[in-house]
Amino acid sequence: ISASANPPSSSGETIENVVIIGSGPAGYTAAIYAARANLKPVVFEGYQMGGVPGGQLMTTTEVENFPGFPDGITGPDLMERMRKQAERWGAELYPEDVESLSVKTAPFTVQSSERKVKCHSIIYATGATAKRLSLPREEEFWSRGISACAICDGASPLFKGQVLAVVGGGDTATEEALYLTKYARHVHLLVRRDQLRASKAMQDRVINNPNITVHYNTETVDILSNTKGQMSGILLRRVDTGEETELEAKGLFYGIGHSPNSQLLEGQVELDSSGYVLVREGTSNTSVEGVFAAGDVQDHEWRQAVTAAGSGCMAALSAERYLTSNN
Ligand code: FAD
Repeated sequence: ISASANPPSSSGETIENVVIIGSGPAGYTAAIYAARANLKPVVFEGYQMGGVPGGQLMTTTEVENFPGFPDGITGPDLMERMRKQAERWGAELYPEDVESLSVKTAPFTVQSSERKVKCHSIIYATGATAKRLSLPREEEFWSRGISACAICDGASPLFKGQVLAVVGGGDTATEEALYLTKYARHVHLLVRRDQLRASKAMQDRVINNPNITVHYNTETVDILSNTKGQMSGILLRRVDTGEETELEAKGLFYGIGHSPNSQLLEGQVELDSSGYVLVREGTSNTSVEGVFAAGDVQDHEWRQAVTAAGSGCMAALSAERYLTSNN
């Protein structure tokens, strides 16, 4: 194992130092650090999003909270910059999905749609996907009224000072609702069950907040729009009576959880009960030595671009140390 350029194995086949899976802020940051450490990282950028690398931020417009951009930057611009920076330092980028991998024995094997790569270490940074409701008009209003991130979008002109709604009854939804009260005129929390699932402390904060109205037994049916095609409300249905009502709202925030994209590691690396990759606290180390995880796939709490980037940096530095200590 070498902590420099990728060495060939005794059988003559190349064994890469590090394979990075994912092209969000975590993957590209890991790629920048690993490339600068002369590890010649191989990055599988993923193809699911129509072949567009860059991860979740490719689906948003302005990113206003990534440090270094006082006037904001669009998600695609930010990701293109990260990609260029990784390329500039020599990361090898493949716009392919990894289809399977094996970390049971070293060297590890990574199989993409186009190639099979052996490697001494892996940085797994495949992100997470916000769960959706599959409303009939969801695609039409995604990012134009529907959002899955209050911290990201709550202060945007589209939502500021408006009546907003959050769907969900757990900790994510209650946190989103409380966060939105800073900006919204009023927040409606749409809960399918007859009670909240959030922790008692969060429940109390929501119920005692005069700017939040909780609607129990309430199903979110669809988005309503005005004559200009803008979101104007939400069609609701009572779960117990089937009665349908219209709620005026300019935004709907999904707080129904995220699915970590950890399928490839199932049965090989320890995951938590929701499928997030378990890392040792304060590290990027998974249950398998040489396999590191970064970004949203191992983070059910913060889920921000800057925290993903930070953990990508940690993972790359950890991989470098691992490779050096096993040299
Ligand atoms: P992701 O960005 O999810 O990237 C994961 C990558 O892994 C993708 O490129 C994917 O193609 C790839 N991948 C997955 N499976 C495979 C596979 N099998 N093989 C190869 N590649 C694979 N955060 C902020 O800080 N500020 C914001 O303003 C903000 N706005 C947001 C707006 C929206 C609409 C959304 C959805 C999120 C927003 N976020 C924002 C959150 C932020 O985007 C995420 O926290 C961040 O992108 C997580 O980075 P990541 O690198 O862990 O994963």
